[in-house]
Amino acid sequence: MGREYFGDIGGKLAFGIQNSDDIENLVTINFQEQFCFHCCECIAENTDKTYCDDCFDSYEEHLETAKDESCLENDDNILIKLDNVIIYKIEKEKHFNELKKNMDEIMDLLPPSVIDEFNKIKSNEEIIDGYSNIFSNVCSEMDKYIEKDFLYFHRYKLGVQIQYILNKQDTCMVCCEVY
Ligand SMILES: [Zn+2]
Repeated sequence: MGREYFGDIGGKLAFGIQNSDDIENLVTINFQEQFCFHCCECIAENTDKTYCDDCFDSYEEHLETAKDESCLENDDNILIKLDNVIIYKIEKEKHFNELKKNMDEIMDLLPPSVIDEFNKIKSNEEIIDGYSNIFSNVCSEMDKYIEKDFLYFHRYKLGVQIQYILNKQDTCMVCCEVY
């Protein structure tokens, strides 16, 4: 359960406190929407397509299956729908310095011992996996500061992951589930 993010980095958005568009608090960027098909749930690369030609031979076949499997209301005939993710393509050239600046500001709002723990792992390639055990010391350190705002902690973690990718490559793509 819960909203995840995936792509060049992965993890879970903090339940109840971190919005799906939290990346916009780290860099100035707009998300892209993604479309997918009813029934097979394949991603629609091209929104001009009326049916999924990977799974079906024709629009009629896709429509019939969608209705048989109750993926569509009876009077509905649009097989393409908005997917439940928003996509960010963060670019080193455009966003790296801004990310650094915003991370420095968040750093001032977090306990220095938590930042120390982040610094110990920031070059570890496992950092791209938000579920990795390498975060356990960071989390247990943060747990000592129950009165602090955990939103900044989760935002900082997201930023550390993005920074790791942008240190290696020119773009960092992140898909964030919206529900
Ligand atoms: Zn399909």
